[in-house]
Amino acid sequence: MNLLLEKMKAYDTPQQIMARGVYPYFRPIESDQDTEVIIYGRKVLMFGSNSYLGLTNHPLIKEASRRAIKKYGSGCAGSRFLNGTLDMHIELEEKLADFVGMEQALVFSTGYQVNVGVISSLTGRNDYLILDELSHASIIDGTRMSFSNVVKYRHNDMTDLERILAKLNPDCIKLIIMDGVFSMEGDISHLDKIVDLAKQYKANIMLDDAHALGVIGKQGSGTSSHFGVTQDVDLVMGTFSKSLASIGGFIASNKPTINFLKHNARSLMFSASIAPGNAASASAAVDIIKQEPERIARLWKNTKFAMSMLKEYGFDTGKSETPIIPIYIRDNTKTFIMSKMLMDEGVFVNPVVSPAVSSDSSLLRFSLMATHTEQQIEFAVNKIKQTADKTGVFETLKAVG
Ligand code: PMP
Repeated sequence: MNLLLEKMKAYDTPQQIMARGVYPYFRPIESDQDTEVIIYGRKVLMFGSNSYLGLTNHPLIKEASRRAIKKYGSGCAGSRFLNGTLDMHIELEEKLADFVGMEQALVFSTGYQVNVGVISSLTGRNDYLILDELSHASIIDGTRMSFSNVVKYRHNDMTDLERILAKLNPDCIKLIIMDGVFSMEGDISHLDKIVDLAKQYKANIMLDDAHALGVIGKQGSGTSSHFGVTQDVDLVMGTFSKSLASIGGFIASNKPTINFLKHNARSLMFSASIAPGNAASASAAVDIIKQEPERIARLWKNTKFAMSMLKEYGFDTGKSETPIIPIYIRDNTKTFIMSKMLMDEGVFVNPVVSPAVSSDSSLLRFSLMATHTEQQIEFAVNKIKQTADKTGVFETLKAVG
């Protein structure tokens, strides 16, 4: 008997969802990533993208990528550590460090690898990693690979964070890690208060700004700029897979920390470096974010417009204050059904169900781009209202309270 194959065959949760005709994952997009995409030959409005500034089609970014491939080829055939560092990687690192106001930066092949490599290597057996309970999966995975003690505080709850900090050994390293903008809930971390607590209890801070870059702060430079506390944050992590219209990631910090990570972060040392085309498009995206500030203004205009419409219709959007808007459905099945109905109506949104969140927190993640038009937003929100009426979402919300 093939025990492994038996185990694989017994896993049929996706097939059960497929049998009900509401499976919402791995939907193949047949076009470029824009406000309108083509799926199964049909045009669909995209409200599930992380391309907040709508830059993946920008002609200058595409051109930068083409030029880099022409000069450096399609890949680096090795890790940054050994044979895969290009002069353009170093230029990109300087640009990113300057963008987020830090001394130095280090570019990885994905943001996931940044969190895993950085978090697993910084602290030791006697130290503490202190996380917001809603931190991104890559942060959690980094802590799982670390030898340090891991403690979680209630989401954005500063009283709970202080309770934890107060009882930890003052002589151990205490690294507080959190998303700047939370990836599902769309709220902003209370970084100003976290900075105060970190000073009081001699803790350090690592900020995951995946969803904040290009969205908040001066020229979209992130959460520490938004709160004016850049000097008080030890490490800033960013990804290229959202506003920066590419794939890859970086960590920015002071020189000694970057030196340590260059020689200890295993996901950097033992994985091939970011491909030239991807690095070049991220670099061009940083330039364009600075040159075209109207994109950020447009993103916020769209966010306010969508939020006010959703609220007017009586949807529960939680504590969102950014272009990530959770529409709470609070029922797994209804969330799946709604996302399927919306797809049939030409609107793409991401269903978020348990175990990603608890079943009574299941939601549709509605995300805005700078390039959406008001008509597109109006169309999508009206479809969401109609499908919510048909599936009895408002009754569920009343029952759950
Ligand atoms: N952190 C957060 C908060 C994220 O949302 C993501 C991506 N979804 C990552 C890290 C990982 O980034 P990447 O896509 O570059 O691997």
